[in-house]
Amino acid sequence: MTEINFKCKKCRKEFDCEVGKITFGMRLSFEKDVICPHCGKLKTEEQSCELELTEWGQTQVAELYFSEGENEAA
Ligand SMILES: [Zn+2]
Repeated sequence: MTEINFKCKKCRKEFDCEVGKITFGMRLSFEKDVICPHCGKLKTEEQSCELELTEWGQTQVAELYFSEGENEAA
């Protein structure tokens, strides 16, 4: 269960979405689709990205990133 707070670029509303496993790379990728409650499935491809992380979402991702790093080290 990984809920991240996003902002939809289409309707400019913030929402929480369960994204499954997050892959950390040059950019983030999510196991599950990101669904805006107003617009439906959002594109996450770099050129046509329809979502952004809120400040709170960035905090959530950073915490996951560091906790995952600890798991790998263990
Ligand atoms: Zn939307």
